[in-house]
Formats: sequence, structure tokens, C-alpha cells
Amino acid sequence: LNITGLARGLVIWRSSSLPAPLIISTWSFGKRGNDAAWPILARGGSALDAIERACCAIEVDPDVDSVGFGGLPDAAGHVTLDGCIMLSPSRSGSVCAVRRFLHPVSIARQLMEKTPHMMLAGDGADAFAAELGFTPADLLSAEAQDAWRKWRRDHEPVDQSQDQVFKFPRPVDRGSDPTGRGSGRLFSKQPPEREESDWKHHDTIGALAIDSHAVMAGACSTSGTPFKLPGRVGDSPIIGHGLYVDPAHGAAVATGTGELIMGVCGSFAVVECMRRGASPIDAIREVLSRIVNEFQIADHHQVAFIALKPDGTFASAALRSGYKTSVKDGQRNEVIDPELVMMS
Ligand code: ASP
Repeated sequence: LNITGLARGLVIWRSSSLPAPLIISTWSFGKRGNDAAWPILARGGSALDAIERACCAIEVDPDVDSVGFGGLPDAAGHVTLDGCIMLSPSRSGSVCAVRRFLHPVSIARQLMEKTPHMMLAGDGADAFAAELGFTPADLLSAEAQDAWRKWRRDHEPVDQSQDQVFKFPRPVDRGSDPTGRGSGRLFSKQPPEREESDWKHHDTIGALAIDSHAVMAGACSTSGTPFKLPGRVGDSPIIGHGLYVDPAHGAAVATGTGELIMGVCGSFAVVECMRRGASPIDAIREVLSRIVNEFQIADHHQVAFIALKPDGTFASAALRSGYKTSVKDGQRNEVIDPELVMMS
């Protein structure tokens, strides 16, 4: 037994079998989020604070071309942000199509904590953030605007059926940059493999954490598919699709082609498999298999999940190669390959 703190004069004892604090995030750029969040977990702070901090750190990072500021706009040239946060089936918040504020996860948390609602969309989400005093921000970086102008020159925004956005090779994570902090560039500025004009895809910061009180929390934040039809919402802000947390059985977070994840209620399905007794890796394998069975998988498709059990055991797996997971606990601070890649 360890003494973990004093509260109102009572000594709180913690069994040494409780999991040590841990944060796991999608992609190698998630390492920056883990680093930002770790001081909270290390001093005994909450998993909720930690995952919010991790997502905020990525949202403000202009080098990450798929989340927050620097995210690619929709077909009309507007950046719209989606995000959610979750503690349990009865405690979650989410916002989608936020256009005037940079931190969808923080807005979602306020929704969870201050209202009886679970999801706000578009103007309503912006108005709620304004009412709460969030600082308005211009979400479109000069680089992203330039990319949109180039895309717009060659494309009909409404008929996206033949659009190269949906045919271009999937995002590839080459791991840590020279600073060891994880590259934010999954789609661009990775010569010689990619040309600078190859701003074609989308991805998400998804984070799951357990704190020293054994509380689990999760969040995710994205700018969604680049050049998407205005109004398109993917899996990320929808509880059960992009994220699910059940304190008794585990948590899961997703990244990748939202439409594939939504087709199988991906994150809920992963947690449900764990509830039935599957290990994290078997749970993800089952859900990826369902995606493979239900959809005609194309080269540009990618889906990855992280699954975490309340005891701290976790796994990540992806449909295709090119995905990485960032993990930090008291012992390690690493970018790791997924345990399983379903297809080549
Ligand atoms: N899943 C997100 C979406 O489809 C983005 C991503 O992770 O690629 O909007």
C-alpha cells in the first residue's frame, strides 16, 4: 500500500495494484501532447485534465496539418473543428463544425460539465464557446489556405466522387522528427516521398489516459477530411465512433477514414469486445475485421484504434502500415509501431 494524499484530514491509501499513470495518443505527433500532459499525471492530477492538455497542445501546433490551427479547410475554404471528451457512458461532451474557436475538446468538456447536453453543432457550438468566454481564433493558416487554393483550382467541390483527395495515398507516419518529438507532417513536406502540394488527407489526435486514482478518460480532436463537403462530420466527435470510455471495461479511440469507423460504431465496438472478455489487441482485431468485411477497402483508406483496459494494459492496431502510437508513463516515453497491421 502507498500513501497517495491527504484530504480533509483523512489519509487515502492506494493499493499498489492500481495502474500507474499512463497516457497514450494517436500518431507520433501525439508524443508532443503526451509530453505536455505528463506533468499533470505525474503530480497526481486528473486524467481528464491530462487528455484535454494533450489535445490543446496539438491543436495550437501549426506543424500538425490535420488538427486545430493549420488543419486543412473544407471545400468552401473554411476550417471546421470536431472534438469530444469522455469519462463514462453518462459523462461525455462533444462539439462539431466549430468555426471560430481553436479548442473543441475544451468546449466539449465545458458542455459536459456545465450543461445536461452531450453534443453541440456548428453555430450553436460557436455561440456556446463565445458565451463561456473562449477566445475567438482564425483557424486557417496561410499554408492551409494556399493548399486549398491549389486544390480549388482543379476540383469541383460538390462532386467529390472522383476527387483525388479520396484516392491519394493514405497518411504515413515516419515517426519522430530530429527533435524526437514526433512529426506532425503526415501528408506534406516529407520529401522526397511527397511533394508539397500533396495535402490530401486527414487525421486526429486521440488520447486515452489513466491517472493515479485509476480514473480513465479520453478525448479526440480533428479538422476532419481536407476539402470535405461543407457540413461533413466524421467519427471523431461522435461518442461511440471516434471515442468510447467505460470505466468498468476499457476505452478506445480511433483515427483514420471516419466513414469506415462510423460504419461499425468503431470505438464502442472495441470496448464492447473487451467487455465480453477480449484482450485489447483481440478487440481491435475483431473490429478491423468487421470493417474489412463490410467495406471495399481502397489504397487511401486507413483506420487505427488504441484500446486501453482499466488495469493499464493496452494495444494499438491499424488497417494498413504507416500508423504509429505515442505512449508515456513513469518508465517510458516512446513512439511505437502498432501490434497489428491487418493489410499491407
Ligand atoms: N477520423 C477523422 C475524420 O474522419 C479524421 C481522421 O482521423 O483521419 O474526420
